[in-house]
Amino acid sequence: MLLRNTESLCPVCLRRIPARITGENDDNAYMEKSCPIHGSFKVIVWKGIKSWILWDKLNDWEPERFEGEESVTEVSRGCPFDCGLCPQHLRKACIVVMEITNRCNLDCPVCFASSNERYVYDADIDTIENMFKTVLRYESKITVPTVQISGGEPTIRDDLPEIVTLGKELGIEHIMIDTNGIRIANDKEYLCHLKESGVDAMYFQFDGVTDDVYLKLRGTSLMGLKVKAIKNCAEAGIGVVLVPTIARDINYHQIGDIIRFAKRWIPTVRGIHFQPISYFGRYPHQPNNTKRVTTPDVLSAIEGQTCGEVHADNFVPVRLGIGCESHCSFTNVSILTEEDRLLPVTYFPSEKRMLEIKDHRDKHPGPKHAREIIKEYWKSIDEPSSKICTCNFYTGNFDELAECLQRYYLSISGMPFQDVWNIETRRLKKCCVHVVTPDNRLIPFCAFNVTSVHGETLYRNQAYEKYIDV
Ligand code: SF4
Ligand code: SF4
Ligand SMILES: [Zn+2]
Repeated sequence: MLLRNTESLCPVCLRRIPARITGENDDNAYMEKSCPIHGSFKVIVWKGIKSWILWDKLNDWEPERFEGEESVTEVSRGCPFDCGLCPQHLRKACIVVMEITNRCNLDCPVCFASSNERYVYDADIDTIENMFKTVLRYESKITVPTVQISGGEPTIRDDLPEIVTLGKELGIEHIMIDTNGIRIANDKEYLCHLKESGVDAMYFQFDGVTDDVYLKLRGTSLMGLKVKAIKNCAEAGIGVVLVPTIARDINYHQIGDIIRFAKRWIPTVRGIHFQPISYFGRYPHQPNNTKRVTTPDVLSAIEGQTCGEVHADNFVPVRLGIGCESHCSFTNVSILTEEDRLLPVTYFPSEKRMLEIKDHRDKHPGPKHAREIIKEYWKSIDEPSSKICTCNFYTGNFDELAECLQRYYLSISGMPFQDVWNIETRRLKKCCVHVVTPDNRLIPFCAFNVTSVHGETLYRNQAYEKYIDV
């Protein structure tokens, strides 16, 4: 069954080629594509044809368009070769990743940034100021963009607190630090400086709850250190989002344990952001279809490994209708009850509810109306699926719920980044997760990191080329 015609890249030569998403008898959706030189490729993209179609329906909503006159680059070779952004791009940034160094105190076998390789990159303060200004110039009017200061490992830099202060002074509202936690576990004084600089949260590498997971994914035992870093953040009053990279044979079975760990650390831990492993950077190997972790794999693991505490139907695409392509992301918000259970307040909407929420959002655009939109989401729980135990639903009024959500909540979300095997220009054009480059362009994250089987990139290597001889 044809689900849609689309465009992708050849994994060998990176040329743009036509592709098809098809539903097959095994109830999986696959991408099929063929390069005139390098032959045919077929990879799994989604488990469950019915759910692929349902999630696809949420793409029908009118996007916030990137205004053509504000584009940085021109349309020349077509998507994905004109990023900057170009006038064909459909979304402004919700999250901007700013890499300030490629140095790192780990050497992870799965690093997408290929840190510590080929050159030394440390952006100077003028370059960093210009990158912040680029974010502000193209910021979304609907969502407040978050800057994630990244690397390499950004805490390698002693001047990180000054960089955060600069971003805040320039007007960046929300700043997170992407970190492996090593320095914040060992250097409380540095963490205090980060707190004083106004940092909003740590985007914290956290792959599992046992050392064997870290040995395989990060090359060293880290569990004790992870706990110490979170404890330090709790003492300093800095929020943490746990970010697990999920690999089928390494930590897929620990998804429930990661959620239970997060619950113990609420309210310091505010969220978990699952990232199924992607095949780029230091890890561009040809994936095996049985090993690929798709969005439905993560959702069914969450449901199964939490004994249904959070159900697959409690997830919706992130920023429903105003963000990225709906297959790019999933999110859920739950409150923590006094009985120590997660009580989901998001629910995949029925088609009728989809239209009502869309109508409401169109009448009340902008972050100021987020509460009304959440209220609309919340109404979805009046229509629970028969699969879900009804005692799992909140029965109080919305104001009590909102108060509870201020503090004792956990957001569980995720993003299956695209790699050269499953990339679609359609998803790239709607991408709102961008990397800001030292020469002041915004590149969709997946386009920035896509890597051929020979290790060639469209943007990443080129962005830092001038640092190679340093
Ligand atoms: S991903 Fe966006 S910015 Fe890049 S070429 Fe495609 S439409 Fe243009
Ligand atoms: S294109 Fe990639 S980075 Fe952008 S929203 Fe989709 S998965 Fe995320
Ligand atoms: Zn090719």
